[in-house]
Amino acid sequence: MEVASLAFHQAARRALADAELQRALARLRQNFQSRRAQAVAALPEFEALRRAGEAIRDHVLQHLDHYLERFVERAQAAGAKVHIAATAGEARRLVLELLQAHGVRRVTKSKSMVAEEVALAEALEAAGIRRVETDLGEYIIQLANEPPSHLIGPAVHMTEERIARLFAAAHGEPEEHDPKRLVAQARRVLRQAYLEAEAGITGANFLVAETGSVITVTNEGNAELTQGLPPLHIVVTSIEKLVPTMEHAFTLLRLLARSATGQEFATYTTVLTGPRRADDRDGPEAMHIVLVDNGRSAMLGSRLQPMLRCIRCSACMNHCPVYLAVGGHAYGWTYVGPMGAVLTPALAGIDRTYPLPEASTFCGRCADVCPVRIPLPDLMRVWREEAFRRRLAPLHQRAGLRLWAWLARHPRLYRRLFGLGVRLLAALGGRRRRLRRLPLAGGWTRARDLPAPEGPTFLASLERRR
Ligand code: SF4
Repeated sequence: MEVASLAFHQAARRALADAELQRALARLRQNFQSRRAQAVAALPEFEALRRAGEAIRDHVLQHLDHYLERFVERAQAAGAKVHIAATAGEARRLVLELLQAHGVRRVTKSKSMVAEEVALAEALEAAGIRRVETDLGEYIIQLANEPPSHLIGPAVHMTEERIARLFAAAHGEPEEHDPKRLVAQARRVLRQAYLEAEAGITGANFLVAETGSVITVTNEGNAELTQGLPPLHIVVTSIEKLVPTMEHAFTLLRLLARSATGQEFATYTTVLTGPRRADDRDGPEAMHIVLVDNGRSAMLGSRLQPMLRCIRCSACMNHCPVYLAVGGHAYGWTYVGPMGAVLTPALAGIDRTYPLPEASTFCGRCADVCPVRIPLPDLMRVWREEAFRRRLAPLHQRAGLRLWAWLARHPRLYRRLFGLGVRLLAALGGRRRRLRRLPLAGGWTRARDLPAPEGPTFLASLERRR
């Protein structure tokens, strides 16, 4: 998937004018927020669990080389083959080579954001390998030929009516609006794909260093069929998914389910250690694990390292006023919402993604709900500073910030000019006390009036009282 984040503003404007998308986003806001709130309220130790999750992730990141080595050793001892891909291109090449070596023409694939990140679907298509997405949301967007717009609900931007139209066209059946019947249609197609697939590609939620196991979490059971039915299973995931032990993994799984969907635990949590053994009744004959770096090790030891704690729960975007207004496609790449505003510049480069760290009101809700306590606004500020340093922001914005910084170092002048500005705006507001157009900052009043200042500045009032 091409990085299109520089067009964030244009895409956001289109999203705001898209009535169907706005209906879908309103539904998302209600569902995810209330379910998470209920799950958190029902668990008094949730804050303690968050701190434990943060500590686990920080510990792993500080000793990533050690846990990586241990994981590779244990996974290979269990019969899996582990490959390290330094870049997205290398990951694509490795997967294609594995599929070609096994003569694979048809694959099933469950959701993997890392596969999305390395543009695996495009590579499979170019190599003439038929891919069927088995996660229902991914299946829907595959039919629509669109990228995902959310970490755990890739098709949340679509309304039921649109899905009904898509299914009717793809399945050659009359348009159906009952969600159960739509699911039954998808199930019929997917069952056949599972039986025909010569390889299954999945992601991984966690990798357990002590056992060499891969953990996948779904609510549909599709990852289990994807990895268990075909003779070849390929896991495409990233290096920071490691956890030291199974116990650590389960602490994080408790946080993940509550933060993502408000469940105590996901419906299907599968631990897979190596391919099928002689006395196993099912499972793949061969298992390969492709561990993708693609810029992550460069984040280690930097101010951005805390971003690698992320367990992809989506709580930050479900609570972000910007994401909930414009949806995921406006972000222009795989990772969206507040976590995307930090991770995308780190993986794709700030020069290609500059508007993303600005796509935040800094209300701080993302950090408040993050189960591993990632200080997302602070990390966005790191990128804003970098963008300022590289002169990526428009000239007027940079000049304004420089002027502001200079004034802030001259507090008396600052206060005097600020007081003058407040009086000017109050006068411009007139009797209606509303500002139709803000001088030099027209974007704030393009779609609404602003209330004019009512009186003197806070500091002036305070001084007068004293
Ligand atoms: S940044 Fe935090 S809240 Fe957002 S997806 Fe990652 S773990 Fe979840």
